[in-house]
Amino acid sequence: MSNNNINTKVIHGGIAEDETTGAVSIPIYQATTFRQVELGKTKAGYEYGRSGNPTRKALESLIADLEEGAAGFAFASGLAALTTVLFLFKSGDKILTSQNVYGGTFRILDKIFKNFGVSYEIVDTANLMILEETFKKDKNIKGLIIESPANPLLTITDIKGAAEIAKKYNALTIVDNTFLTPYLQKPLTLGADIVIHSATKYLGGHSDVIAGLAVTKDPTLAERIGFFQNAAGSILEPFDSWLLIRGIKTLAVRLDRHLENAAAVAEFLKNNKAVKEIYYPGLKDFNGYEINKKQSKGAGAIISFILSDNYDYKIFFKNLKTIALAESLGGVESLACHPASMTHASIPKEIREKIGITDNLIRLSVGIEDKNDIIADLEQAINPAGKR
Ligand SMILES: *Cc1c(COP(=O)(O)O)cnc(C)c1O
Repeated sequence: MSNNNINTKVIHGGIAEDETTGAVSIPIYQATTFRQVELGKTKAGYEYGRSGNPTRKALESLIADLEEGAAGFAFASGLAALTTVLFLFKSGDKILTSQNVYGGTFRILDKIFKNFGVSYEIVDTANLMILEETFKKDKNIKGLIIESPANPLLTITDIKGAAEIAKKYNALTIVDNTFLTPYLQKPLTLGADIVIHSATKYLGGHSDVIAGLAVTKDPTLAERIGFFQNAAGSILEPFDSWLLIRGIKTLAVRLDRHLENAAAVAEFLKNNKAVKEIYYPGLKDFNGYEINKKQSKGAGAIISFILSDNYDYKIFFKNLKTIALAESLGGVESLACHPASMTHASIPKEIREKIGITDNLIRLSVGIEDKNDIIADLEQAINPAGKR
């Protein structure tokens, strides 16, 4: 790729064309096996669909390009990507993770890897002093999982600072970049070792494909992750790989509109008396605004807010019309979710309350509809929720 601008890269990055026909859209190679030239010799490096598929390969090289990594890997879901990356650790190792990460990330550590002797500790990664103290205390810490902004309170972690500390203690830094995508933030350039994505969200962008991606800049890690991808087998299918490539082509234009709309919605909520607290890294008085500004090109389009005590969140959700009450985020349509009972229900209530995921917390994924329609919908849902 000669042109390095990401607006161009989302369209022409990776393997963007079919070499044999010149088709500008990579074909869906719906094949499980590939005829071999002779014993031990393949035509183009493909043998069996789990090990490699040309459509998936095109996607994998595209995401590697976008994240400025050495190699990319596509999986059946974001959690499949994370699980596969976690195979890098072994019994006795400990993993640190941000306070509020995606509920499913916590669940994998707590309910699966813990049983195999890989322990975890939740730490406030936004506080680098606490992070370093935690590393100092336990030499078994071999990994650090960060989300910045984190889910659902948009907590910002200084990725460069955190990765430097992890490196000092010989631990791998894994960044879940789902919320900002490489269009806005490139963790590998900030020192992270591995980036993972729930591509189900902004990268796919149309709420029609479940997919996960992992990228690393280190060839040795790439070889190991590639081995695990083939060995464990939770690969992305050719059709879904193609859908994801198609979604990524419009990532830049979609995100520009997401950002514009989110800024308007944040302004509306900030000035609304029904809103007790608002969490959006694009607001100047948000804790972490400066760090997010330094390490990314934008604040994304996820906004969380707490309704005032005299407002009933159940009535708010019931009244929404344009905005759908639904799990997930990052699609073209605006969605609202109730983290306590939906995305973060797998976290025990005591821990949930402690990390600020209270019952009247609402998370919005601001879509690309007309911003005035989104705001009007919020307004007509909030007003009747006030208790008399
Ligand atoms: C949705 C999500 C995941 C899980 O991804 P799936 O594609 O649903 O498996 C992981 N991390 C974050 C930040 C997410 O939003």
